[in-house]
Amino acid sequence: MQPDSLTVESGLEALESSTDFHGTVEPLDGLDDIETCEHIALFYRNRDERFATVAPFIWQGIEQGERVMYVIDDLPQSAILAELRTGDVDVDAALDTGQLTFHSLDETYLRSGRFDADDMLEVYADAIEEAKAEYPGLRVTANTNFILDEHATLEEFMAYESRVNTLFEGEDCIALCHYDCNRIPPEILVDVIRTHPHLIYDETVCHNFYYTPPEEFFQPDEPIRDVERMLNTLVDRSQARAQLKETVEELEESNDRLKRFAYVASHDLQEPLRMISSYLQLLESRYAPELDEEASEYIEFAVDGSDRMREMVNGLLAYSRIDMEEAEFESVDCDDVVDAMLSDLQIQISETDATIVFDPLPAVDGDAKQLEQLFSNLVSNAIKYSGDDPPHVEISGERHGNRCLFSVRDNGIGIEDEYVDQIFEIFNRLHANDEFPGTGIGLSLCQKIVSHHGGDIWVDSEPGTGTTFSFTLPRAR
Ligand code: ADP
Repeated sequence: MQPDSLTVESGLEALESSTDFHGTVEPLDGLDDIETCEHIALFYRNRDERFATVAPFIWQGIEQGERVMYVIDDLPQSAILAELRTGDVDVDAALDTGQLTFHSLDETYLRSGRFDADDMLEVYADAIEEAKAEYPGLRVTANTNFILDEHATLEEFMAYESRVNTLFEGEDCIALCHYDCNRIPPEILVDVIRTHPHLIYDETVCHNFYYTPPEEFFQPDEPIRDVERMLNTLVDRSQARAQLKETVEELEESNDRLKRFAYVASHDLQEPLRMISSYLQLLESRYAPELDEEASEYIEFAVDGSDRMREMVNGLLAYSRIDMEEAEFESVDCDDVVDAMLSDLQIQISETDATIVFDPLPAVDGDAKQLEQLFSNLVSNAIKYSGDDPPHVEISGERHGNRCLFSVRDNGIGIEDEYVDQIFEIFNRLHANDEFPGTGIGLSLCQKIVSHHGGDIWVDSEPGTGTTFSFTLPRAR
């Protein structure tokens, strides 16, 4: 077993990657002055807030095959289990094998009738030893409401909390303690803040500059250290905010420059391109009788190339226009958008014998022209990338709260998993032009339009069976 592979980073990663924890996880990198240790305090104000953190923490432990210990306090085991069963992780299987265990206060904190720090540290030391024999690490989570019931003096408990940090040092062990902010008085919470290097409050994981290492916690020079810490925190926060503002301004400026560059370049390239195409055509029509077969073929290639380049430049211009033009959003009836799109694609549809089906679609808040382009690119791709059968395309859309979720599903050739991330990149294509003609701009334009509307777009595909593009848009106000 590698020493200390179960680190605070891995615990925080559980929160960062969980869809149940919606908050911010402050990165640890760059925080040189802060001591890290595998002991996290959660300050919660209600049950939802509590399990949005506790559940992913436990699920990650189970998934990683670790030993998971839950010390029960205010809620019965059945209520905790009900919360833990809401995820994809098989909590009951972990219970059956003994990987996940629940412990009462009488077996742990109050083993000898009242709280005794030495006793509890022994419980954890034993648990660490036991876990080591069978598991890659030990993950503990405990509620702390019992400290309110005068089972322990505050000093005793805080001294214990700071000793836990030392106990876990160098061990594959991580603990998450939950503190009920509504019930635990502020004078206790202040000490909780000082004894936990990592805190979670208001859906934000903070690395705690107020943390006081155990060896300092009860020392006479502690107030001086506290002042130092508070001042350093203020300075650090102010410097970070100022630096962030500067960086955002720089990025905004450079982003604006890039957008203008793409727009001007694509706009200004059109004229010389038009000249190349027209003179090539002139050459072809006027001098055709004097040219040998090879020369005519060269001209044909050149015309072909300039046509393709014009399509690309037009695509790039359409792409950069979305950034440059401030569109006024309004309520847009997606049924009208799809009707307009279908009449534009009429030739492609009848030439390929494609069927397009759709149910009534919800109205969204957006720019009708851009949305027509979005549906048109997706449906035209669905027809273009069809397999041997005639294309069958289903468009659907439904409201989900403030958003509408749309999908365009086809029965075409599909996309291999490994290429799924690449297809939204501008000019990225998976096929040669003689196989499927195109410029590689369509999907990047779709992505830009959707993100301009504050939505997301993604793809699910099965090679040989078909592809579904899904996207979200804001519902009409
Ligand atoms: P283009 O179609 O001009 O190549 P896009 O940006 O529209 O450019 O698409 C990028 C790539 O994604 C295409 O080259 C194609 O390989 C793949 N693709 C897009 N839509 C589909 C689809 N419905 N089915 C299968 N592959 C698709």
